[in-house]
Amino acid sequence: MVSNFVWGVLLVLLFSTVCSRSALVRPREVDVRAGEPRNTVQAFQRYIRLVYQPQAEDVIYNDQEASWAYNINITGYNEELMIAASEETALFDQETAQYVRSSFSNIDFSSNMTLERLYDKLVLLGDANLNSTDFSELQEVQTRMQRIYNTAKICRNPSIHADDVLSKCPKDQQLSLEPDVSQILATSRNETLLRHVWKSWRDATGKKMHGDYQRYVELKNKASSMDGYADTGAAWRSTYVDTYTNYTDQMFLDEAEAIWQQLKPLYEQLHAYIRHKLKEQYPTVKALSNTNSPIPAHLLGNMWAQTWGNLQEFTRPHPEKQSLDVTEAMVEQNYTADTMFRKSDDFFATLGLIRMPQKFWDKSMIERPADNSTKVVCHASAWDFYNRQDFRIKQCTEVTMEDFLTVHHEMGHVEYYLQYKDLEVPFRRGANDGFHEAVGDTLALSVQTPAHLKSLGLLMADFDINDPDLERNSLYSTALDKIAFLPFGYLMDKYRYDIFSGKIKPEQYNSKWWEHLVEYQGICSPVKRSDSDFDPGSKYHIPAGVPYMRYFVSFILQFQFHKAMCQEAGYTGPLHRCDVSAPELGDGGKRAGALLAKTLKMGSSQPWTQAISAITNGNSSRMDAGPLLEFFTPMQQWLTQKNAELGITPGWSKEPECSEETAFQAWLNLHNNESSVVKSAEMFATWAYQTNITKANELAMLEASNVAAAFAKRKTEEMLGLFPNPDEITDPLLRRAYEKLSKLGDAALSPEDFARLGAIRTEMEQVYSVAKVCNDTSIGIDMERCPQHQQMALSPEITDILHSSRDPEELLYYWSAWRDATGKKMRSNFTEYVGLKNKAAVADGYKDNAEAWRAPYVEPSYNYTDADFLEDADRLWNQMKPLYQQLHAYIRYKLWELYGNKTVPSLNGPIPAHLLSNQWAQTWVGLLDFTEPFPGKPQLDVTQEMQKQGWTARRMFNVSEEFFTDLGLIGMPEEFWKISMIEKPSDREVVCHASAEDFYDGIHFGIKQCTAVTMSDLLTVHHEMGHVE
Ligand SMILES: [Zn+2]
Repeated sequence: MVSNFVWGVLLVLLFSTVCSRSALVRPREVDVRAGEPRNTVQAFQRYIRLVYQPQAEDVIYNDQEASWAYNINITGYNEELMIAASEETALFDQETAQYVRSSFSNIDFSSNMTLERLYDKLVLLGDANLNSTDFSELQEVQTRMQRIYNTAKICRNPSIHADDVLSKCPKDQQLSLEPDVSQILATSRNETLLRHVWKSWRDATGKKMHGDYQRYVELKNKASSMDGYADTGAAWRSTYVDTYTNYTDQMFLDEAEAIWQQLKPLYEQLHAYIRHKLKEQYPTVKALSNTNSPIPAHLLGNMWAQTWGNLQEFTRPHPEKQSLDVTEAMVEQNYTADTMFRKSDDFFATLGLIRMPQKFWDKSMIERPADNSTKVVCHASAWDFYNRQDFRIKQCTEVTMEDFLTVHHEMGHVEYYLQYKDLEVPFRRGANDGFHEAVGDTLALSVQTPAHLKSLGLLMADFDINDPDLERNSLYSTALDKIAFLPFGYLMDKYRYDIFSGKIKPEQYNSKWWEHLVEYQGICSPVKRSDSDFDPGSKYHIPAGVPYMRYFVSFILQFQFHKAMCQEAGYTGPLHRCDVSAPELGDGGKRAGALLAKTLKMGSSQPWTQAISAITNGNSSRMDAGPLLEFFTPMQQWLTQKNAELGITPGWSKEPECSEETAFQAWLNLHNNESSVVKSAEMFATWAYQTNITKANELAMLEASNVAAAFAKRKTEEMLGLFPNPDEITDPLLRRAYEKLSKLGDAALSPEDFARLGAIRTEMEQVYSVAKVCNDTSIGIDMERCPQHQQMALSPEITDILHSSRDPEELLYYWSAWRDATGKKMRSNFTEYVGLKNKAAVADGYKDNAEAWRAPYVEPSYNYTDADFLEDADRLWNQMKPLYQQLHAYIRYKLWELYGNKTVPSLNGPIPAHLLSNQWAQTWVGLLDFTEPFPGKPQLDVTQEMQKQGWTARRMFNVSEEFFTDLGLIGMPEEFWKISMIEKPSDREVVCHASAEDFYDGIHFGIKQCTAVTMSDLLTVHHEMGHVE
């Protein structure tokens, strides 16, 4: 922001030194001669001629000069001068409007419509309506956005973000939009580089101006409403509205939409064909493998996908034949920017149009300044300085065919300026905005015909202009520029109309932008977008506040003009071959030029409908897509036929994103559905086995787990193949899913190893689950000799004995027999198991299986490593150890008291493991009766009480569930009670180890537990139910 102080100084400076504005005579000071009546047509005319006109020319000239100075040398100082100059113009406009309103509002204009148009234009103020504070703020907001755009740089190195260009990107890798970035978009076929450049440009521009744009919209609307418009969209469209011919705002909107609908089928054919060609060029781009997808926006050869001419190299209908791009020939023939401008000027002269004046050549900037330190606004533009002498073009011209056509475009503007320069200042405008853009392009349609390019010597002498293949290549290349542009030209302002009307809210700026892009252009973003982005701001006309509908209108009008001029020249062939300057048309070219000149001379003094009528010799007074469609008829036929041959259906789905991330999200959704089916089948089979250990169930379980493993492996390989670069997945949740899925676990093993691992595991589990000890100590674990009723299982018999027996002999017997019955029998299996688990873990990229098991504790996003976890676990243990040691010493003493020296030989040593009331000494609750601090007081172990009250497993589960629901948590669903196994069945072998299962079908969840009516098991029920919850 410019502070008020500096502001004041600037204004003084402006008046005293920069210009001779002190001599400026304000309207109120020079009145029409005393005594003359004011409110007459004659007085108004005199005021315009003698007072307004000279002053306006002076004020606007100074304004334009200041703006020019800034545009060719972006400095803070020039920026301040430019803002000051536009303030001065605003002031002048305000005073003029006030004066005109107060002096001439009662004139009866019925005899002179043109004068009334003039009056209407003078009392409209636009931005000058704003008070000085608002006006200054608007200037600053606009200037700031433009400065961001015009000075933006990105880095060629894809690892350097746009925000870090100045600090991290080497100078020789820093890229400006023109020419570097545009060049990359045009010529590179490196998808990664294109995506980087595409995204970086948006980070460097639009993203930085979201807030400013919102303020800009508010201020612009404020100014427009003071002119009586509903909003700035309506003000912008006023160029197309004509009250004199009853052509309304709504009529314009309807006609534009109808024209777009008329053109859409042609666009869709081109779009479908290009999509097909891009798929061949970029076989790995996933979006393109979907035949119905929008096209990823970064692959179309242009930063905004607005013209596709740069793709003709690999998409043209007859690749074996020459393309029409004459860039190479221009370079070979040593064309310079000056050559291009001179040739363009010559073409205008051929048609009898006005040549560029000497001052034009003296003052224009047609090349980027050689001095690299000077920052300039490279966006090509044509300037009218309103003094009837000074007209310039500013263009960082490159020697390319595209720029050669742009030269014609810009020169068309200047031709318009030259033609209407003697009109009243408010009439020195196009008949509507679209007219101004159409002039140069109309002439370029002749210039780019093969016949004309050949006459310029830019096509080889052997180029046969009658070869239908070459002609098709040529018309195709024109279509890539003209047809591809139509939806973009249309949507830019459809979008902004909705912004100005408030239909699009600031927080929707970016998402709605993409809705428009996918709807009209059929393109999608190659990277994830969010509403913190502001992609519209990556296009010059958004920060610069230049209306864009003019280009859409111009693309319609230029074909109307072209057809009218060709007819006037006496040309009768197909429209796309017409060159109005062709020698065989004799002075036809001059006649066509005169027709154009006649129309241009009208400026905006007449309704635009009459200007169309003038150039079409009265054949039409409306916009008409007919001539455009006529021009491209052969192309449309070819595309339609070609697409049908290729089996391509035109059109696209309305998916605005085609980023890796979006594709991954879609893949993941599908994977979720598929994998829950597979996983569910595996869980049911496992459950069936665990709750009924039979050979058949075992085989079914192993089969299901083979299927699941093969599925997981296939899917992970598919994922790694489709998404080889996880760095493109930036959403943290998706990235986590990716990381998890990239680990295969056991499925990483070969099918043979996997099956072996499954068999070993089942064997070990089976040994464990069916292990029994005979209560006849002379029999031990030889179960064949042990009568059925003497066979003791771990649960409940052995557990009970360990828990409550105080006979050290008995405890020792069950303790050691259990180890003989289980662990001892799986020793070699376990060794093999360790080998296979490590093998799987190594295949997943871990050091060993231990590291794989610890992986869930590791969190790269917080830099929490495996070592951190180990250190934490160790630290926690050491923290607890003194407490454990106290408890250990106390229990050891109590055991010594109970069993004596023989069983507990040392009060310093370890405790014999079989005395601790649990098979693994992992809990010591069973020792409560003789170790509690205050014997005789009621125990917290409520086991006895539960048994006395006749508790059942079901009651324990019900009580547990109630605890969950009392806290507002989810109760166990109906299916839970149906599927769960909460008691040990007597009719079959089961895996008693308590567990809770998710069956992955969203319906079934179960617990299996050989529940004993004990306090410890009551707590276990809560534990397992916690899993289900
Ligand atoms: Zn233009």
